[in-house]
Amino acid sequence: MRKIRLYNTLTCQIQDFTPLKEGKVSLYCCGPTVYNFAHIGNFRTYIFEDILVRTLRMAGYDVKHVMNITDIGHLSGDTDEGEDKMLKSAQERQSTVLQIAEFFTKKFFEDASSLNIIKPSLTCIATAHIQDMIAMIEKIEAAGFTYQTGGNVYFDTAKYAQYGQLRGYGIKEGAYHRVDVDQLKKNPEDFVLWFTKSKFEEQALHWQSPWGEGYPGWHLECSAMSHHYLGEQFDIHCGGVDHISVHHTNEIAQNYACYGSIGAQIWMHGEFLTLHKEKMSKSADNFLTVDRLVELGFDPLDYRYLCLGTHYRKPLSFHDEAITSARQARLKLMHRVHDLQKEIQDQSLQDLSHHPYWQAFVEKLSDDLGCPEALAVLWAVLKDPDLVSLEKLSLLHMMDDILGLGLLAACAGEHADELEEKWMNLICQREQARKAKDYVLSDRFRDELLENGIVIEDTPQGTLWKRK
Ligand code: AMP
Ligand code: ZN
Repeated sequence: MRKIRLYNTLTCQIQDFTPLKEGKVSLYCCGPTVYNFAHIGNFRTYIFEDILVRTLRMAGYDVKHVMNITDIGHLSGDTDEGEDKMLKSAQERQSTVLQIAEFFTKKFFEDASSLNIIKPSLTCIATAHIQDMIAMIEKIEAAGFTYQTGGNVYFDTAKYAQYGQLRGYGIKEGAYHRVDVDQLKKNPEDFVLWFTKSKFEEQALHWQSPWGEGYPGWHLECSAMSHHYLGEQFDIHCGGVDHISVHHTNEIAQNYACYGSIGAQIWMHGEFLTLHKEKMSKSADNFLTVDRLVELGFDPLDYRYLCLGTHYRKPLSFHDEAITSARQARLKLMHRVHDLQKEIQDQSLQDLSHHPYWQAFVEKLSDDLGCPEALAVLWAVLKDPDLVSLEKLSLLHMMDDILGLGLLAACAGEHADELEEKWMNLICQREQARKAKDYVLSDRFRDELLENGIVIEDTPQGTLWKRK
């Protein structure tokens, strides 16, 4: 087993990873609330988690990766305020909550697959685990951490002295000092475990419980499902940084009250994708979907390349030039890979796991998922005049297994042709002109390509080219 080091939000430190069970990793990742399309900001977090899974598997671990689907109880605010996201979406779309959930869950996995995100070993749906949630509240109640008021069951944060320990990570203050704090709470940070007579009496889905007919709080879902599939203690829990101050903080409190342990030993968080200097977010209507990227002429894997170029703990700003240069870089890579494939002809690829370049690549990823550095090693392989083509292609093949950029698969498809760099660049420039709606210029580029025997076709998968 190779040594892996990971940043733990709980300790604010990069630490050596030692799993609870030798050779096995239990990993829980917060999944989507399926009331709308996931945006590419959400997918930045899922790409980071995918790299984590691939890195752990590369290191020799047997990874059990569990992800939930939230189809109930997530209000627009994380602290029990705002509207119910699922219900609102169902009403707007004149559909039922379950139909909405089914539609957006399917779309989520299609988009994830276009980004080469490996499906979790197990996905679980909140509405299928209501009894686990009720059992958990009963335990929390028996341990004396709850109170009931206004018909709802609340977690009493004052009873948990370490409440908020996860917030060491750059969080200046809790998210609670707002005007619309629920007046029924004893402390602003208390949160609902079970809603009955709340402001959402018209809630579409509700269940019988010892506290009356109602539905669970969102934070409870992840505690109950992680426990159900991974046990009281497991290795790693992931999500985006917005989950630190409330959602994961509350999960920790629930886990502690219920089992006397906080759940995961390592809590990892991916930084935001920003658009126009703000967090990309559905509620602020400041977001792009994978479909929109494709409409703009990009391949979803261009976006994956863009994400890998920035460390997961650093913010990433999305803008036209960034995605365009990611696209150009990926096209260049595919082009180089294709040249190499032609050069080696039918020689079989080699296992170069002892090669210094592979060792360097693995080293970078093992050090808290250093993707930008690992990508730099991949480029160094391509540029090294002392490596023969077979070595280069073998190494690229091994590296792309972890990075998931589809480099080798792409060469078998439409790009399995030779195209000089200047034509590649012209294709990219044409795309930029098209995006800027400068159709005169984009048509001129298209004509120039055609005169040189290259036919362009705009498809939902992006711009494809072939020789006449
Ligand atoms: P949600 O469906 O809103 O619960 O979010 C799903 C995942 O995406 C969570 O792990 C969030 O923390 C993460 N997330 C939300 N917005 C962004 C963003 N702009 N950049 C990166 N991750 C995000
Ligand atoms: Zn969660």
